[in-house]
Amino acid sequence: MDTSLRYGGDSSALRFTTNDNNNPPAVKYAGDVTALKIHVKQKLRIHSNTQLQLNGELDTGKGAPTFVCALVRHFYPDLSASLGAGLQYDRNDKLFCTVRGKKAYPVASSRFVNFVLKGRCDIDRELEPTPNGALELVWNVLDFQKDQDVRLKLGYEIVDKIPYVQIRENNWTFNADINGRWNHVPILTDDAADVVRWKDVHGNAIDFSIREASRSIIGIDPLVPWTKFVWFKGHVPKFSFCMWTACCWRLPTQDRIGTWFSGSTSLSCALCDECIDSHDHLFFGCTYSREVWRRIKVEFGLFGFPEIWTDIMEVLCDNRGPSKMVHRLALSGTVYHIWRERNRRLFRDVKQLPIVTYRQVRDQIRLYTASWRIGKKT
Ligand SMILES: [Zn+2]
Repeated sequence: MDTSLRYGGDSSALRFTTNDNNNPPAVKYAGDVTALKIHVKQKLRIHSNTQLQLNGELDTGKGAPTFVCALVRHFYPDLSASLGAGLQYDRNDKLFCTVRGKKAYPVASSRFVNFVLKGRCDIDRELEPTPNGALELVWNVLDFQKDQDVRLKLGYEIVDKIPYVQIRENNWTFNADINGRWNHVPILTDDAADVVRWKDVHGNAIDFSIREASRSIIGIDPLVPWTKFVWFKGHVPKFSFCMWTACCWRLPTQDRIGTWFSGSTSLSCALCDECIDSHDHLFFGCTYSREVWRRIKVEFGLFGFPEIWTDIMEVLCDNRGPSKMVHRLALSGTVYHIWRERNRRLFRDVKQLPIVTYRQVRDQIRLYTASWRIGKKT
């Protein structure tokens, strides 16, 4: 017993491949995605050289079967031939008998090159015959490469007068005819796991990854010069996210919010209550945040590092930012905790002294650097 499943669109170019006795389990995908079809075939061996072949095709676009067919086939190994007869029911509610035959002729005593003659005749209920047939030159190349067999088929549909070509490899089949119809048929194997593939920005099919999906959707932009001072090895995600937002000047500070609500005059810095807050004010023009930042600079040896955000960004953009991980953590950790304290005061009406915020920053950085060193050793 043999079962095959094919998934695809326009299968007319494959009309004869479905009758191939050695047709392996396959999933077919065609360019016409509006006409996806699922093809199922099952073979039941009746006798050593005789089998009952059941196959059908479901058109997913129409939600109805394209056809169902039951065929008894007998093989004549000595003659390299087969004969079949059965019934087929198609989408037009047509029930008809079908008779099919196939014979191979070796070329120049080579068993790898054959002429194949195929014939088929459908007879409907009015006994009206519809003949069809094809001539094929088939070239089998065993071990084309290591563990790779290839079959090249050049064919000609006699009634429709359509030349076609088929290339089959162990894992795929490619079909095309002179009318431009084509499809690619990857072959399913039970012992191989499914793999998710992704078309990258260059159009190449590659293994799926979040990184590539992001690149395809968002695009590849040039790196900003301050990236390594934000997303460095050992960074703390919540620190870096806040720092990154601040570097982009995208924190919702009051100077930005004020432009959203024209006429509002009630805004003032939650830390010092002297003016509305802004990136320059919060980092670290404000008396509150400046005290925290100065203590942190002394604690971690960041002497000479600027205190105004515009100057800090200039240093980072000039690649003169802190080189040590602990210094980068000190900067991003201070930015995070200043922003956190500002929001606590604004939205929860909870306040703490600068010395407390400084200790929080200091203790967290010590904790992170210590755990990072332990993790590095283990
Ligand atoms: Zn302030």
